Amino acid sequence: MTLRTATAVIDLQALISNFCYIKKKSPQGKVLAVLKANAYGHGLARIASALSASTYQADAFGVARLDEALALRNAGITKPIVLLEGFFEHTDLDVIAEYDLQTIIHNQEQLSILCSANVAKPIQVWLKIDTGMHRLGIAPEDLNTFYTQLNQSKNVDTDIILMSHLSCADNAESQSTPNQIALFNKVTNGLYNSKSMANSAGICLWPESHFQWIRPGLMLYGVSPIQEPRLANQPALQPVMTLQSSLISIRNIAKGEKVGYGGAWQATHDTTIGVIAIGYGDGYPRHAENGTPVLINGRIVPLIGRVSMDMISVDLGKNAQDNIGDIATLWGKGLPVEKVAQCATTIPYELLCNISRRVQVTVK
Ligand SMILES: *Cc1c(COP(=O)(O)O)cnc(C)c1O
Repeated sequence: MTLRTATAVIDLQALISNFCYIKKKSPQGKVLAVLKANAYGHGLARIASALSASTYQADAFGVARLDEALALRNAGITKPIVLLEGFFEHTDLDVIAEYDLQTIIHNQEQLSILCSANVAKPIQVWLKIDTGMHRLGIAPEDLNTFYTQLNQSKNVDTDIILMSHLSCADNAESQSTPNQIALFNKVTNGLYNSKSMANSAGICLWPESHFQWIRPGLMLYGVSPIQEPRLANQPALQPVMTLQSSLISIRNIAKGEKVGYGGAWQATHDTTIGVIAIGYGDGYPRHAENGTPVLINGRIVPLIGRVSMDMISVDLGKNAQDNIGDIATLWGKGLPVEKVAQCATTIPYELLCNISRRVQVTVK
């Protein structure tokens, strides 16, 4: 492969393979594939199309913004699309009805607007209950009131789906998840609606949270949702995005010389420095520390000095045989994004969805 500039290689086979792995974890669960933030940087329509084709299909897609939902419809996606934060203003309702979208209801304002509206046809609603995340969702004790009002409204489709969101599902030791599941079961007891709680970490660690609908995001893209090393190992997951660029400069430097802005790194030995055409302007994290791994010609080399807008430097070692034009992998196949995120004191989610527009995309 020849490659000149920062490129995200998107592997749709890996996506399908991750999807199958998720299905195995929850054979009965319908899958709401979460595609917010440009499908975690992988391309909204591209991922939705891949998960709408042939044998392996998501049952619905989840997005955070109305614009994202409309972009999917405009790309020809016909599957159910759920607005995970619901609608923001009453004029959104006409668009929701027109484009056959589904909405979460998570507060009293949305309930009032929906029930007093005059929409062209009933809208499918997911009612969100706050079981402990304390971000979105109605109080458990308000469930009956909300449920009754929604059920009686001519604007609401009869199949209301009951949902909640887990705050600590990535922590196998935390008591929060069992508490949230218990509360959810208690308040929805006796209601035979479909239910939904599990994000990726819930899918991996908490089978009792699966219910009828699972909502994977991160896992679809081949990244482990769990940080704890013993549990993080999900060998069947394959990275969908591999971020690469090429070496554009190689130079020998002597012990004591400094490299990059602020002279922030100083050579402790004679060595060879490589410059790679990728920087924070492409979405590579500016706060990646010295020593952050970069994969070149089959070996890991350390990032050195400050991350620039368009470039980073690595220490190739004294007798390096690398050449200008050689490919460097910043994360993906051979170098988990989880590791890079740790070195940049962030999470894989942020790295993936920060990939900037100037990064070329190659689909394989
Ligand atoms: C983002 C999101 C998910 C997916 O979370 P992951 O950790 O990426 O699997 C699921 N449900 C809701 C409501 C979300 O906002």
